[in-house]
Amino acid sequence: MKWPPIHVARPNLPPLAQVLPFLEEIWDSRMLSNNGPLLNRFESALAEYLGVEHISMVANGTLGIVLALKQAGITSGEVITTPFSFVATAHAIKLAGATPVFADIDPSTLNLDPAQVEAAITPQTRAILPVHVFGTPCDVEGLEDVATRNGLKIIYDAAHSFGVHRDGQSVLRHGDMSVLSFHATKVFNTFEGGAVVAPDRATKLAIDQLANFGIADGLGVDDIGINAKMHEFSAAVGLAQLCEIETVLDARAVIAQRYQDHLGDIHGLRCVSPTGVSGHNHYAFPILLGPDCHVDRETLFARLSAENIFARRYFYPLITNFAPYNTLPSADPTLLPVASRTADEVLCLPMFFDLDEASQDRIIEQVLIQ
Ligand SMILES: *Cc1c(COP(=O)(O)O)cnc(C)c1O
Repeated sequence: MKWPPIHVARPNLPPLAQVLPFLEEIWDSRMLSNNGPLLNRFESALAEYLGVEHISMVANGTLGIVLALKQAGITSGEVITTPFSFVATAHAIKLAGATPVFADIDPSTLNLDPAQVEAAITPQTRAILPVHVFGTPCDVEGLEDVATRNGLKIIYDAAHSFGVHRDGQSVLRHGDMSVLSFHATKVFNTFEGGAVVAPDRATKLAIDQLANFGIADGLGVDDIGINAKMHEFSAAVGLAQLCEIETVLDARAVIAQRYQDHLGDIHGLRCVSPTGVSGHNHYAFPILLGPDCHVDRETLFARLSAENIFARRYFYPLITNFAPYNTLPSADPTLLPVASRTADEVLCLPMFFDLDEASQDRIIEQVLIQ
């Protein structure tokens, strides 16, 4: 008998009854998009929940990064980023008009290593685009130190960082801007969506304008913008979702702790994300299967698949393996030893807020087989 499938992620959905009143408002107002009333409420509610002052809702995280780079004037030159991320990180740099330069990661956080960033700086470098991978904060002080000493901007790809705090403060307050994704697979979703966290109101309004074709005050057009507007349906889902998010985050913390309790002491296996710390969102549950582990990554991945358990080799391959990037000088794997090794060892186990204990036991049992 085949057990029912367990997928690596399962989108959160708020109870339908919580979404319906918002949908009725949309049907009554006939405001479907263009800075509608729900979008405004969602924006304020989210700013308050996240602990930031200025935030612009956008259609998705990828366009959010493009617009943040464009607003910061990063439309040419080089942007230093990580190869250990989702491909959208590098695409956004190219789409903004700049060239990605890849630097290696820190083995403890799997995020950009500030020393490697510094070594990759050239006269063409304009900015750093780090990613808080799997919701674990980057070495923000180290990166800010490099940026300040070299006159560079920092735009964070915070697609995994919804609700993440560091030293009691939102991690989104670091750098010049941070960009969230509300895609279906993220900790918090609006089906598709995203947001740009801006340092001041003028920057927020500039992002809003770029997201609406560059139209200023309904008449003039100041710049070449794009359509990256969030519509009212997404705002409705977001408002309803926000009522549930604390429950979701608490449940994820319990699941992560349970994995940690069962897998934390296995020789050669490392659970990457910290547990038992407040302010982490447990975006995923990545494990690294090192050379001393009783099972290697490919074997475990295949073993789980055979049991109808769908883990994810994430991030593998590295962005630097993909055709648009693999001929860049900085994509040479010998320059990226930590990222290359991590891509071969990493496996993200199923992690979603309603993963039940029996299913989690099935997963753990497979990992433990000698
Ligand atoms: C999901 C994701 C994105 C893209 O966000 P979308 O909202 O899907 O466009 C960018 N960077 C990282 C690291 C992501 O995981």
